[in-house]
Amino acid sequence: MGLPALQRIISMQRERRRRQTRAHGNELACLLANSFALQQLGLSHCSKIIRLKIPSLLQRLITLEVSACKRLQTIEIEAQCLSKFWFTGEWLVQLSFGEALQLKTLDMHCHGAVCEARANLPSTFPNLETLSVFSYFEMVNTPMVGSKFPFLKHLTVKLAAAPAYDYCSLISFFDASPSLETFFLNGFQASMQHPSILADPSGRRRMPKHCHDKLRNVTIAGFSSAKSLVELTCHILESSESLECLTLDATEGYDYLRCSVNRSGKCFCMRRDAILEARHGLLAIKTYIEGIVPPKVKFTVVEPCSQCHVVEL
Ligand SMILES: [Zn+2]
Repeated sequence: MGLPALQRIISMQRERRRRQTRAHGNELACLLANSFALQQLGLSHCSKIIRLKIPSLLQRLITLEVSACKRLQTIEIEAQCLSKFWFTGEWLVQLSFGEALQLKTLDMHCHGAVCEARANLPSTFPNLETLSVFSYFEMVNTPMVGSKFPFLKHLTVKLAAAPAYDYCSLISFFDASPSLETFFLNGFQASMQHPSILADPSGRRRMPKHCHDKLRNVTIAGFSSAKSLVELTCHILESSESLECLTLDATEGYDYLRCSVNRSGKCFCMRRDAILEARHGLLAIKTYIEGIVPPKVKFTVVEPCSQCHVVEL
């Protein structure tokens, strides 16, 4: 199939309403080799593809989305103008990119995505400006390594972290990203398993002071009393003189779940232990955070809904 004028391919075996091309390895390679006007490529649930090669002749390809391709092991990209890449899979596959790649936006969903992003992405994607990582399960702390994201401005981290995970290890991203302006973290867990700062008589650790010069807007959703999460928040306040807005959200962090927004007029259910932990998070905010917020910072605290999330003690 020679399609020099084709600008968009969506290969989705499960969603038949959208334009569809069932891709099987060599067939896909042949298709891509003849689609030099392609600007956007999405591959989803292509279980027969093991190696994906995006050839350099795709000079106009801007966006690539790869999700749930179970047998995929390697992605090789030689298309020099690609600027947005979304990857969703159980584990990250081997990535190989051409030297001239100008990738600006990366969205990565997989196990261990946070550690992987910090350890290996700076050298692969030195020009990133927007990075979103969603880890289904983060086992190890984010490593402190010397490599940098010199142009990274927007960082989103969503993670389900192991009980021993130290949220303060995320400081590694701040140190690596001198241009960082916005940071969004969601660490919501239905049942909080991290050590609570409220149960620790030693109080909070004080991290070595850094200077995160450009950081202006920080949101932490799923805010709990997890000791290292409170410590991370204090560190941000004490190290970010440019900070303008700080939002701490003790709910799941999604507006559409709220009764004020959704059509049902009722908030989506929160588990009883999640509501109770949210209260612990609010107490930790009062105890450790409120008192160190500089007056110039717009400080917002989001609580569980007072009408829909009532729990009798
Ligand atoms: Zn409500």
